[in-house]
Amino acid sequence: MFDEKSLIIKDILKKKSLCPGCDEEMIEYRVGELFLYSTENEEIKYILCKECLKKINKIRKEKQIKFFKKIEIKLENNFRLYSAILESKSKPLAGELKESGAIAELPIDNPWNEDDRKYFENNPKINYRARKIYPGELEETYKNNAELKKSAENNNITTAIVHKISDGQRVRAYVNSLEGYPREDEDFIAALFQILMNDFLKLEDLDSLYQEIKRRNSFVKEAVEAYLKEKEE
Ligand SMILES: [Zn+2]
Repeated sequence: MFDEKSLIIKDILKKKSLCPGCDEEMIEYRVGELFLYSTENEEIKYILCKECLKKINKIRKEKQIKFFKKIEIKLENNFRLYSAILESKSKPLAGELKESGAIAELPIDNPWNEDDRKYFENNPKINYRARKIYPGELEETYKNNAELKKSAENNNITTAIVHKISDGQRVRAYVNSLEGYPREDEDFIAALFQILMNDFLKLEDLDSLYQEIKRRNSFVKEAVEAYLKEKEE
């Protein structure tokens, strides 16, 4: 099992971004759709949760406009809470990297972004990977958050867990060494990612969730839902 140290990082990394529609935490399986909002200087991509998507599909046009207006004001005032973007293909995002926990806006020109992009491009069937962090990667990712940066350094973070949500859209989390774990097995990495991101899952769930994902032939979402349901009962 992971040691005490990785537990600390896990808690910090679980500061997630919120859905700007309802202010609920954006747990991975609640991720709905990506939207784009262009300001003068940058293109802000944000993700609405599935519940909000359902809601806007039901309301009338004028109400929809109001709904999005409210979101834009929120994004302008407190972008960091809601940012969930990963890469802008058309042009690099203006301004500095804005991070909010494990979900961050990533400029396109970092070697690690390039590495992940190429990897998923070359392995279209893979959605989760673990790789060694690049020199400077943590510093860059946490450059606006001294507390996170210090914690990452103190805990000997060496490994990036990367999840491809869709083409050009990825989420990263960081952990310490995966030595002794089946790091080449995508199902294991998927289970670990869920543990890091989902408030309802703890490290002690890792082995069982890993087995559940395997049992369900890598259908991660279904495995998580089934596992949580079973735990509830
Ligand atoms: Zn929402």
